[in-house]
Amino acid sequence: MTSSTNQFLKPVSTLINEKGNLEIGGCDLVDLAEKYGTPLYVIDEKTLRSICRDYKKAFEKYPNTHMMYASKALCTSAVSRILDEEGFGFDTVSGGEIYTVYKSGVDMSHVLFNGSNKSYDELSLAMDLGVGRISADNFFELALLNEIAQSKGKVADILLRITPGIECHTHEYIQTGHLDSKFGFDLTQIDEAIELIQNEYKNLKLHGLHAHIGSQIFETSIYPDEIEIIAGEISRIEKKFGLKLNEINIGGGLGVKYTQKDAPPSTYEIAELIINKLNEVVEKYNIEAPTVFLEPGRSIISTSGVTLYTVGSSKQVPHGTKYVAIDGGMADNPRPSMYQAEYAAEVANKKDTNETQKVTIAGRFCESGDILIKDIELPELNEGDILCVYNTGAYNYSMASNYNRVQKPAMVLVNDSNSDIIIKRETLDDLIAHDIIPDRLKK
Ligand SMILES: *Cc1c(COP(=O)(O)O)cnc(C)c1O
Repeated sequence: MTSSTNQFLKPVSTLINEKGNLEIGGCDLVDLAEKYGTPLYVIDEKTLRSICRDYKKAFEKYPNTHMMYASKALCTSAVSRILDEEGFGFDTVSGGEIYTVYKSGVDMSHVLFNGSNKSYDELSLAMDLGVGRISADNFFELALLNEIAQSKGKVADILLRITPGIECHTHEYIQTGHLDSKFGFDLTQIDEAIELIQNEYKNLKLHGLHAHIGSQIFETSIYPDEIEIIAGEISRIEKKFGLKLNEINIGGGLGVKYTQKDAPPSTYEIAELIINKLNEVVEKYNIEAPTVFLEPGRSIISTSGVTLYTVGSSKQVPHGTKYVAIDGGMADNPRPSMYQAEYAAEVANKKDTNETQKVTIAGRFCESGDILIKDIELPELNEGDILCVYNTGAYNYSMASNYNRVQKPAMVLVNDSNSDIIIKRETLDDLIAHDIIPDRLKK
């Protein structure tokens, strides 16, 4: 089976240059750290475009496939431009994401709005900006959206988000498709939702069903299982309500290779399973071949991103762990402290050393849990060395905070020896920009 870019640990352009330093996108990482400061998020454009093309190519045999990027993995204006150029639509989950892709010039009919508690203002913005589909998550939202659409004299094009009752083996916090989930309609609630749409909510038009099982998934069988359930529902709905639904959104979730232990499936492998299953259910249930939407986030952007840190202090606990501190941590990458996520890293300089030692990379934030990588073999680290942590493109910047009132890092896009800032580093003044001292407290 052809391999795809989500199966790589490092960006496709990673190499060791003649200085013995790590290089990505033709840029020496030590030079990048010096030029832009650290911590620094680096996105390799080649890797990002390569995975987009893997997905497109993998689904060529099912022309009715629409690729949507789940922008919650990393939503920035420049990244949105690249995905738009690659022909991807966007799965958005907030007014902020909708606004970002809109301002970056995306065709809004290729945007889906999804989420378990969308606000009145967000739904209203989605309708005003012409978002193509809204995935309705619950009864409250159906009523709210109908009211908003009615007040605007418009019809909202919707999918129903359902929970197909499939469990996948991933971290509990990133499972979403199991029965007792906070997301979507239970299968037993679908009929009531359709009755409401058919009889009461005249400003809603239902096009299909939407599900998303979980994230960082390595089990390929969940996609066919999911399609079987959705197709069964579509056929049942057609018989019972005379309503033809011809859109299926099967969510995202494909995994990536954070460490050598991870072996995610390729896009080609899942595409073959998905397409075979689609052809099978079309025949089995005698339904129209549906338009299929996929909305991967992590597998699109993760591998293209690395984070650079500068090494500071070290501490050898007598007869215990050797801690090496870096200038970032849980505020720029909360995944290790939230999900016990593991990462691989290398020293960007010193590539000629063979001797290694076991160290624990400690973040700079004031929490004992702020450990970025536990027990990793690395060459001896000294103050000023540059550490490159791999696979930080997804759910790092997008989950970053200003904990400890530390400025969020900058992000650069690298390609063919060029580097461009795509997110500016926050300044100290940015940190206090929203603070207000009431008059009675002023000095
Ligand atoms: C988060 C999410 C995705 C993307 O998940 P990944 O694991 O990043 O691919 C897709 N669809 C929905 C509905 C989501 O909530």
